[in-house]
Amino acid sequence: MSTPVIQVRDLKTYFQTPKGVARAVDGISFEIPKGATFALVGESGCGKSVTALSLIQLVPEPAGYIAGGEILLNGREIVVLTEREKRGIRGNNISMIFQEPMTSLNPVFTIGDQIIETIKLHQKKTSAEAKALAMDIFGKVGLPDPEGLINEYPHRLSGGMRQRVMIAIALSCKPDLLIADEPTTALDVTIQDQIISLIREVKEATGTAVLLITHNLALVYRNAEAVGVMYAGKIVELTTTRDLFRNPMHPYTVKLLRSIPGGEKRGKALDTIPGTVPPATSYPAGCHFSGRCPREMEGCASIYPELAERAAGHKVACHLHDAEFMAGPSSKPLRHEPDSLAPLAAPYAQRKVLLDVKGLKTHYPIRKGLLKRVAGFVKAVDGIDLTVREGSTLALVGESGCGKTTAGKSIIQLLRPTEGEILFKGSDLARMDERQMKPFRSLIQIIFQDPYSSLNPRLMIKETIEEGIRSLKPGLGRAERERKITEVLERVGLTPEMMYRYPHEFSGGQRQRIGIARALAVDPEFIVCDEAVSALDVSVQAQILNLLKSIQRDFGLSFLFITHDLSVVEYIADEVAVMYDGKIVERNSTVEIFSNPSHDYTKKLLSAIPKIDPELAGLWRLPGR
Ligand code: SF4
Repeated sequence: MSTPVIQVRDLKTYFQTPKGVARAVDGISFEIPKGATFALVGESGCGKSVTALSLIQLVPEPAGYIAGGEILLNGREIVVLTEREKRGIRGNNISMIFQEPMTSLNPVFTIGDQIIETIKLHQKKTSAEAKALAMDIFGKVGLPDPEGLINEYPHRLSGGMRQRVMIAIALSCKPDLLIADEPTTALDVTIQDQIISLIREVKEATGTAVLLITHNLALVYRNAEAVGVMYAGKIVELTTTRDLFRNPMHPYTVKLLRSIPGGEKRGKALDTIPGTVPPATSYPAGCHFSGRCPREMEGCASIYPELAERAAGHKVACHLHDAEFMAGPSSKPLRHEPDSLAPLAAPYAQRKVLLDVKGLKTHYPIRKGLLKRVAGFVKAVDGIDLTVREGSTLALVGESGCGKTTAGKSIIQLLRPTEGEILFKGSDLARMDERQMKPFRSLIQIIFQDPYSSLNPRLMIKETIEEGIRSLKPGLGRAERERKITEVLERVGLTPEMMYRYPHEFSGGQRQRIGIARALAVDPEFIVCDEAVSALDVSVQAQILNLLKSIQRDFGLSFLFITHDLSVVEYIADEVAVMYDGKIVERNSTVEIFSNPSHDYTKKLLSAIPKIDPELAGLWRLPGR
């Protein structure tokens, strides 16, 4: 058997922090053979990205350091190499695709300079050969107009295009190991599909080993041969992909899998994991998942469960699979959550129309020349019709740049449309001036993708929510406002004391809850959710989707759900409108769209989503008595 490309043995990567030593990676082992993909999955803050930085020898110094263990590249230990030798390995042997491409592209050089230099440096090609190769690979990663792109600077490209440039640079050197850290998170599903196919092609052609770090479990299911589930610095389950999805044995893995939205879970609550990953400075002495585990026993928090083989080739770190522990006194259950998922959501029936959009157009003028004359128009939204019924969810889907966000903003009058009717409860919002619009402002709210940028960092949460109530519900007195803030914070699963904190003191999921609380505080009837769950971990996303479903059921709210994530759509939406190039190309019930799409573009979108076989969901049971 040939030597694996990478062997990681008991790797420990620590950071010195004011609160003590943070054990970000706390003794993990795995290996990746030539031409194979190994996936690391788990929530944010579990140590996946630090593992990647350790492998490429880019742990931020001096705070971060490799505290123990070995990393063997083609059998050679690399932690002990000199800085010069490590530089030689990066790019030549190990390439990495980062989550945020802007931070890894140099803003002062053109895209062409950056890729051509890399190719020349690592592949001994002439400038002309390197340029030809760069153009070829730009075409393969789906970048339009490679010739023109060569002379562009990074800031002139969209986020998705920058990501594709990064991927092109990483693949251009045909590395032994490619580390892909959330490589497609920011990309549309069709581009994601192209990128993943390209990585697969390179892997098959060159034998490159791939470390895939992602929170998209369907991507793992479709693309990886083996998986390590990481939790709080440790690998808690390690097996083949087939085994993990057929027989998950760690409670954390089961919870993660059951939090994935999908059509088969419609009408039911998604499984969620209470609490958050503990800080790396204060892991429990025993199982790191104790405190959040639905099957926790008395000894779990104090006795560490070793990662051991519990079935052929299937390693698990959990006392539930240790016969000796289970026969002893420490195995008394502390909690035992039921295994079933609660039903959620009212059935969709023929309800009254709340919002009726007819022939909506939003065109932007293109101005040119010294006098800024109008030379044409960008038709961002070009004559769309939509209907949203009371207490129901309409999903507006399509790729970036298709006009869906502009449509959402035009409907709630954050942008003035060029033409068309927006009938809300029978009144046309498009014809109203600001004064006439005022009574409708509280009924129509929006929740954004990035709650952090929509919260004022200098205001306490109380002040942020109160600001909205003051302006839209001026009749409410101080005491009533405070009661309202307490009520909405509790409704979204936060405690009333949290109103005295600032945005930076909250996690991403909590900030999204604050965004929802702010919207709820003014008693809306209709909320536009613009990519509201796209940036969240799958476990946090499940909590927010459950929350949105439950407030819809309790308050009869209607949602316009703007997203590119079709598995979320299949779970949450009653109807779907598919948008392409400013127009709606197909509209139907969610069940019809997913089972019987008629437009070619809808078919293309649906065929690009990586899917887990829905029958497997029936096998995801919590272990134990
Ligand atoms: Fe950890 Fe105990 Fe839960 Fe197993 S049962 S995951 S050892 S807390």
